[in-house]
Amino acid sequence: MPRQRISLADLARIANSGQDEHRTEPGERVMAGFDTSGISQQAHPTVADLSECLFFSPGDGRIWLQDQRMVLLHSESLGSLRRELIDSIGLDKARGLLTRAGYVSGARDAQLVRQQWPDADPPAAAMAGTRLHALEGVVQVELVHAAYDAVTGAYDGEFLWHNSSEDDEHIAAYGVGGAPACWMQVGYATGYVSTLFGRLIVFREVNCRSSGDPHCRVIGKSAELWDDVQQDLRYLNAQAFVGASAAADGAVPVVDLQAYAAANPGTEQSMVGTSSSFNAACHMLHRVAPTTATVLFTGESGVGKEMFASTLHRISPRKDKPFVAINCAAIPETLMESELFGVERGAYTGAGASRPGRFERAHGGTLFLDEVGTLSFVAQGKLLRALQEGEIERVGGTRSIGVDVRVIAATNVDLRQAVREGRFREDLFFRLNVFPIHLPPLRDRRDDIPLLMSHFLAHYNKRHQRQVAGFSQAAVKAMYNYGFPGNIRELQNLVERGVILVSDGEAIDVHHLFSSGESLAQDVLSLAWRDGGPATLSLLGARRTAAPDEAAGTAQGTSKSGALEQAELALLRQAIRRSGGNLAAAARDLGVSRATVAYRAKKFGLAV
Ligand SMILES: [Zn+2]
Repeated sequence: MPRQRISLADLARIANSGQDEHRTEPGERVMAGFDTSGISQQAHPTVADLSECLFFSPGDGRIWLQDQRMVLLHSESLGSLRRELIDSIGLDKARGLLTRAGYVSGARDAQLVRQQWPDADPPAAAMAGTRLHALEGVVQVELVHAAYDAVTGAYDGEFLWHNSSEDDEHIAAYGVGGAPACWMQVGYATGYVSTLFGRLIVFREVNCRSSGDPHCRVIGKSAELWDDVQQDLRYLNAQAFVGASAAADGAVPVVDLQAYAAANPGTEQSMVGTSSSFNAACHMLHRVAPTTATVLFTGESGVGKEMFASTLHRISPRKDKPFVAINCAAIPETLMESELFGVERGAYTGAGASRPGRFERAHGGTLFLDEVGTLSFVAQGKLLRALQEGEIERVGGTRSIGVDVRVIAATNVDLRQAVREGRFREDLFFRLNVFPIHLPPLRDRRDDIPLLMSHFLAHYNKRHQRQVAGFSQAAVKAMYNYGFPGNIRELQNLVERGVILVSDGEAIDVHHLFSSGESLAQDVLSLAWRDGGPATLSLLGARRTAAPDEAAGTAQGTSKSGALEQAELALLRQAIRRSGGNLAAAARDLGVSRATVAYRAKKFGLAV
């Protein structure tokens, strides 16, 4: 019984859209920066607009905020959950958990505003978060000041919070005194604004009713503007690794791990994420780390299986022993056995000296078998024996060598399916599948995209000694809409490419990111056309025919022409603005006649 729900807000928009001839292209609007003076209490979406997205459907036991299911929860019940969390896992962990839960909620609300009011002015879209927060009964927000610079990406805002529900509950349980306590709300603000602007903007509560202040005061700034942002980020990243990653900053004597990370650029320490699917995987990792159980990571290429594997080792009791990794797909079948188990001198032509294999080198530590699904049947049999008996025999050797190794395996193929098709030994599968952890693809954890973009921007700025400012709004929008078939590794590559292409102080734009044939969603493709030197309208046609696979790849020809129109509109607006409204100059700029520009401007309802 899926139903199409149309809210009052939808109806209002449909009714108005006919009369509104000066609708602007959404991406264009969002490009602009703002400061407090541009923020009006009347700007849409107002509280009334937002409340029209709220539906009660008692007949089937659901409440909706547009397309998100909500629940009406007693504040006191949330308070008791909070108290039990603090009492059972400690203040710091509870704070992290609640901050991340708040982040998800803020990120969802920002998506709602982006989808429902794509034309909203940036300040109004930003203020909508405060209105939603109030509408949801969490807190009343008073703006002190806020400013956003679209060029540098710098955000700076200050707000007062009144009637904080979190404080009510915290004070009821613990009384006044101590540190600020509006953790979920801080997470919400961070999640909302970061998702809206596509860069990490961190909120911190500097005064709080729970610590005896008359009201709470929060300050939000772009991550790079905080001197000591690490103290906030520890609550945004999965708690299990807070202590571990601090320890890893010191020299951990695991040479192989460092070497593996250097050789495999996907494995830098970047356990970044707040989304629930990512956190679920982190939770599993934390549970299994202290044991010696075999762990099998599954998931698509590029989701971070190597990183999870190395983190698992790093937070396990074996962390001071070797972490040895082998990519089974990268080793020729004929060498596999000697790689894994070592070789005795004279075992075959060319075996001039005895050497240990990876199993022996990992003794006492962890052996990571990446892409285990590619092992040949023979190698599978030998691996199985090593796992069952805890001992190995070198190639050409006669004695058994006992090994104490924790095995972690990873695969991007469905091993059950491989077993059914007779390509993978069933007994080995059951040996490996003791504790499976599935890592979600990036498209299922889009909430983490701004966090990951910020993370890799900072990472590559440092590595390449650059000072790239951030991402343009068009770039952010493109990233949100992109499918990321290559997952986190692809996002990482895109950001690195952008950092290299862009000059210091500039922002990364769409064409810096997507420059090697990635196929973008149609509405985003239009933005890619916007730049690239002296663009002309005819160039658009050429570009369009030059990409036949893209055109053929989409069944809906109409959305293609919609994208083309969007692109044309964007080019026109840009040219007209650049020329200060002089149509002749705009026409020269575009390489078309003045009459064409005038005709098309009129067609699009552009005010000139
Ligand atoms: Zn507070």
